[in-house]
Amino acid sequence: MTATRILEQSPAMTMQREADRLAALQELDMLDSPRDDGFDRIVRLIQQIFDVEIGIVSLIDAHRQWYKACSGLSFGEIERDASFCRYVVAAEEAIIVPDATLDPRFADHPAVTGELHVRFYAGMPLTTKAGHVIGTVCAIGKRPRSFGTREIGILQELSGAAMDRIELLQTASTDSLTEALTRRAFKTEADQMVTLAQRHAHALSCIVLDIDHFKSINDTYGHAAGDIVLKAVSATCKATLRATDLFGRFGGEEFVVVLPYVDMDGAMATAERLRKALEGLTVDIGDQTISVTASFGVASRSLTGKDIETLLAQADAAMYRAKQDGRNQCRSWSALQKEAAKATKGERKRVLRTGFILFDDRKNLVNCSVKSLGADSAGLVVSNADGLPAEFLLQIPADGIETTCRVIAHDGHNLEVVFQ
Ligand code: GH3
Ligand code: MG
Ligand code: MG
Repeated sequence: MTATRILEQSPAMTMQREADRLAALQELDMLDSPRDDGFDRIVRLIQQIFDVEIGIVSLIDAHRQWYKACSGLSFGEIERDASFCRYVVAAEEAIIVPDATLDPRFADHPAVTGELHVRFYAGMPLTTKAGHVIGTVCAIGKRPRSFGTREIGILQELSGAAMDRIELLQTASTDSLTEALTRRAFKTEADQMVTLAQRHAHALSCIVLDIDHFKSINDTYGHAAGDIVLKAVSATCKATLRATDLFGRFGGEEFVVVLPYVDMDGAMATAERLRKALEGLTVDIGDQTISVTASFGVASRSLTGKDIETLLAQADAAMYRAKQDGRNQCRSWSALQKEAAKATKGERKRVLRTGFILFDDRKNLVNCSVKSLGADSAGLVVSNADGLPAEFLLQIPADGIETTCRVIAHDGHNLEVVFQ
């Protein structure tokens, strides 16, 4: 698509195109998914083939660019507004910048003027079969350079390989590192369990657990050590759970459990058992020993019934509360709900939408991604939750929502809010 065609698009069309793009991204369910060797190889190839310092395969949601794989940079995501790649998503075509100091879009960018010293940028859209640009594959260098048709062709090939890999991973049922179920396989099985629980009116609960300060384990002992810890955590959880429980890996260091025939009290007891087991775990790395803790969130199916997405969103919210309360603890959605002045119905739809957080008489605006939405509550993700007030105005244009919200749980990025 050319620049003139973008200008011809009405704001409504652009908004619809973005909503469809986010829906495609949600369907693939790859955001915050575990590291994968296939993508790591692609970003290393980018460095080698083009002789550049940085290679990235990224997905771009409503508020950020998240790196599925990245070589040559130490961070894993940046705000969408600060990313070069947002231009690729807007244009739906490759963008080549031979020398960023000469390009008005990038010349004043901190990555160009600052320490990173970016000069060259080539970004290729990562496009689904249906034509939605869900992210980019890009090469970034510290020296100006030209990039001819041949190079563009190679980057296009690599982008195709990344998309193939994303599609291939949709069919995997277990995670190669930890042998836990993948997100998709977990959800398929969990759905069946919830349907059965519904039909026979029996209890069912769900636990979400996230390792505390895992980034510092990676930073202190290296990625390989981090991987060994993940394996040990997964093995410990499996050994503590029953064979009939469903155990999956949802993110880098986030795991989920479905416990059939277990009510809230039983699930809290299981979460506490898991918490203690992990607290007592020591992992040997050469001559050093690493210890870990994790934070837990628990949710149970009530008699009115909840689908797995709702249960996961509620367990997530409880887990963020455990993080907020100091980590290495278990929290339940029901306790969180009782604490909220207004009880929420709790039913949730998993979505991926553009949201805006407004505060200080609308003078301040923060972009967010809305990841789950109910009639009276929502789960939001922001780049940094620290500076946000406890109450603010939330706009979700795609659903015509503008409402005052109160934060009931948060960690560094995730916010659980109830509508006032
Ligand atoms: P918190 O207590 O708030 O959860 O802090 P945290 O450091 O655990 O959370 P954060 O989300 O900041 O960091 C998670 C880290 O997990 C960052 C990422 O590099 C790392 N990670 C993700 N996937 C893998 C993996 O497969 N292997 C290893 N070694 N690290 C991974
Ligand atoms: Mg963590
Ligand atoms: Mg995490």
